[in-house]
Parts: sequence; structure tokens; C-alpha cells
Amino acid sequence: MGFDTLLGNDRLKQNLTGAFARNRVSHFYLLSGPAGSGKKTLASLVAAAALCSGENRPCLHCAHCRKVMAGMHPDFITIDDPEKKFVPVELVRNARADVFIQPNEAERKVYLFPRAQDMRMEAQNALLKILEEPPAYGVFLLLTDNAEKLLPTVRSRCTELALQALPEHILRPALEKACPAASQQQITGAINRSGGYLGQALGILEESEDATQTTTAFLQAYAASDAYGLTQVLAPMEKWKRDMLVEELERWLLVLADALSARSGSTPTQPMADKICVSRSAQDLLRAIGILQKVIDYARRNISPGAICGYLQWELR
Ligand SMILES: [Zn+2]
Repeated sequence: MGFDTLLGNDRLKQNLTGAFARNRVSHFYLLSGPAGSGKKTLASLVAAAALCSGENRPCLHCAHCRKVMAGMHPDFITIDDPEKKFVPVELVRNARADVFIQPNEAERKVYLFPRAQDMRMEAQNALLKILEEPPAYGVFLLLTDNAEKLLPTVRSRCTELALQALPEHILRPALEKACPAASQQQITGAINRSGGYLGQALGILEESEDATQTTTAFLQAYAASDAYGLTQVLAPMEKWKRDMLVEELERWLLVLADALSARSGSTPTQPMADKICVSRSAQDLLRAIGILQKVIDYARRNISPGAICGYLQWELR
């Protein structure tokens, strides 16, 4: 069953498999769920099922399925301009004209609206006109992380496919497979913070991988009093989001505090603290700790990451 490519969501997958087997395909589907819940994966599978020429749709083997999954089927059309804050109304109007041109290769034509919540009234009204008189071969997939932002008249025409959070016994093996380098502790942390959505958990793991690299690079530069290395670490951080920056600086603070107490005889517990306590004096460490505490406070009081990183480059060099 092709729908099994999507993790969890068993009821939803059973319903869709049954509907496509009986050829009871809706014209309009509303795929709803938070970021990282699998809306795009499900949209590709529904599009493949709608265009598939095999059995057990989507078969994922026929030419139609393979083209959809590769994002290159001429009858699977995305209506969006990711550069724009809102989906431009002209694109929706163009789609409305395009709908009446017969499919190129398949028996149906599928239109994907990847962020229906970012369609203003005007665009939603243009969409509504399509929804009121669709051609028999038209299938429309509206994706949203906030179905409340859609006009009730749009929403009521759609078959809603609501994506659910995944239980830990499904999420954990998927994350272990996708991120083989992550520790069990990191995976548990990502599961707890993700709300049960695979895409979010993967994002958290990638972020923590980047963060670990940044922390190590900072500690090496600081231990070696390497001003150039410090600049290399801080320059990309100027573009970070404030809360991510604070988390990172708090990690640095933790290690430096650990190195300081190691200087008065305690055993260091943080990685790299042993090296820093040898190469940097207690006075250096006290000063750096004071600076970090100060900038963490600045960051919390809305000073920009750019200004903070510039100040740190100057003060910690
Ligand atoms: Zn197929």
C-alpha cells in the first residue's frame, strides 16, 4: 500500500486506500496539521494516487507515480510563490484558467496549494470560484497549518485529512534511522520537544547537531586565544534567532563556569573544560563569564543578535 510511506495516521491511510480502490475520489482535500506533521508527504501520495495508472493506488511503480514522487509530473501543479508573504491572487486566477485545459498525460490534473492559510480573502475568493465549478478531472489539495484561516465556504467543500501526532514507538525508530549519529538522549529530547511530529523532531536534531559543532568550535578558539577562530564562529551567529543564540551562549557559559571551578580543584564534567582550565587563567575565565552573563541578559532584552556577536568578538578576542 503506497499510503504506508506516511508514518502513523493509520485510520486516515485506510480511509484513503479504500476511497481510491472504490474510485471515490474527492475534488477537494484539505490536509491540515502543524508544521512537520507530514502534509507534503501525504499530498504527494494523494496526488500519485489520483494520477496512478496501476493497481492499489498509489502503486509508486508506474510512470505517473514515479513522476509525482520526483516532483516532475506535468499534471501535478503547485500554486505558490515562496518569495511572497502571501500567495499572489494572480497565481490563483491563472490556475482557474488552467483548470479548463485538459490533463497532459494522466486522467486527472492535481493542483497543490502548499500554504492555504497564507491566501488573502481575494485569493480565497478566486479559489472558491474554482471550487464551485471544477472540471471532472480536477483534484485540489489545500495544505494548511491553520484551517481556521480559511473561509468557511472553502473549508466546507473539502474532505478534511487531519494529520495526527505520532506515538514514540513510531517516532523513535524513524529518528534513529534518519539521524544515526544522534545519541539516545538527543533523540529523547527531540521527541519531547516535537509534539510528536516527525518533521519538527528532525529539525530539532539537525539544529542540535549544528549547535554541538558551534559550541566545540567556540571552545577550541577560546582555549587557544584564537581571535580569527572566534570571528569564524561568531559571524554566522549574527543571523541566528534570538532564542537559539541565548541557548548557545548558555552552553558556553556552562563550560566556562565548569572550567573555572576545575581551576580550584573540582573535576570538570563538561567536554573541553579540562583544556580551557589549563590554557586560561581564573581571571580570564571570570571576565569571560561576566561578559557572557551580560550579553545573555542583553539578548533577552531584545538587543539584536548582530550587535551581540559584534560585541563578543571585541570583548572575548
Ligand atoms: Zn502508480
